[in-house]
Amino acid sequence: MRLSEFRGKQLLRARGLRAPNGLTAATPAEAGKAAAELGGKAVVKAMIPVGGRGKAGLVRVVETPAEAEAAAADILGRVHGGHTVRTLLVEERVNVKSELYLSIILDSGRRGPVLIFSPEGGMEIEAIAAEKPDRLLKAGVDPLTGEIARDFSVRLAGLELPLDLIGQVERFAAQLARIYVDHDLLLAEVNPLVVDDGGCLIAADCKLEIDDSALFRHQEFIAEAESSLSPIEKEVKGLGGTLVAMPDGEVGVICNGAGMGMAMLDMLKNVGLRPANFLDTGGGIRYQRMKGIATVLLREKGFRGVIINLWGGIALLDEVAQAIIDVRDEYQPPYPLVVKLVGNNQEKARELLDRAGIAVARVVETEKAVQMLADAIAGRVTDGRTADA
Ligand code: GDP
Ligand code: MN
Repeated sequence: MRLSEFRGKQLLRARGLRAPNGLTAATPAEAGKAAAELGGKAVVKAMIPVGGRGKAGLVRVVETPAEAEAAAADILGRVHGGHTVRTLLVEERVNVKSELYLSIILDSGRRGPVLIFSPEGGMEIEAIAAEKPDRLLKAGVDPLTGEIARDFSVRLAGLELPLDLIGQVERFAAQLARIYVDHDLLLAEVNPLVVDDGGCLIAADCKLEIDDSALFRHQEFIAEAESSLSPIEKEVKGLGGTLVAMPDGEVGVICNGAGMGMAMLDMLKNVGLRPANFLDTGGGIRYQRMKGIATVLLREKGFRGVIINLWGGIALLDEVAQAIIDVRDEYQPPYPLVVKLVGNNQEKARELLDRAGIAVARVVETEKAVQMLADAIAGRVTDGRTADA
């Protein structure tokens, strides 16, 4: 569960880290009033649990309460990453001298949290990794104590930052790591971590994500858990699945198994398609749940295509196929739909889909099913029957 930026910054401040003071606002008038209270100069930010707001024009630096009001009127109601902006964060303005990057994420490869730091903040971590890999430091974090591996300090010293800043980064990172461990976080990202005009560090942005499995240990956040989901994410959660909407997507994805879901997002990108979501149906899927979940995607008219890829271990694939057919009939999506079902009752399922005129990927490799969808979108003829499974 992602904590709101407002709540996340409260948490940082409570643990002695600097973050700009701010007020939430739900209307332009409230935003104007908040800016006035903060002294006029302010930053107006869309408070939604997705990044990339700066680029999308959802973070505005303003000079006066009137400007804050105008910015708020413009930002409220806009949609970004599947979330409608209903709340704004109006913050005191920080005079930015430079922007750094600091995060702690759970790294399954290392089987523990890892701290990532770069003096090239502001841009997304993927861009830093691609463009300035030598300016990116990683260090293991002890999952029980939050202690950062000692080579972090050594490598930090090698970045040729001002001595005083190095000390500040070390202290900030050490405290963030303790916060991470104490709250069972999966992610703590401060980007940018700003060096202000006084040379001090302050968290201009803050993304904290608590492990849902540990929420029971953090009663203070449970009420927020629900409200951080978008309506469609909530709908899928209610059906027993997990959906994460992705900004600027064009292809809907349904699959079972989170690993396969993640892999499919990569596969789609590899054939030049932008996934609109991650959607894991959860295990043991039957007719009703499949119907509900397929409805969530196939009622969307704006996609370029949808791909459904399910493995039938306990699931009965013929029931799944029937649900897909019923939803397709009801919503008549105007774009290609490719379905790959492998496992329990697959032959019966494929027969049903064939008869309904839905493209069946008779393949084992998901890459091939993804390619079929890409071909169908590009208007090339596809025939899953000539494939190899
Ligand atoms: P994100 O794009 O969703 O990650 O939103 P951020 O909170 O990181 O804001 C985007 C950008 O707005 C930052 O990289 C900063 O350059 C800028 N920004 C945010 N807060 C301030 C501030 O207080 N003062 C100034 N000058 N710029 C800010
Ligand atoms: Mn940011």
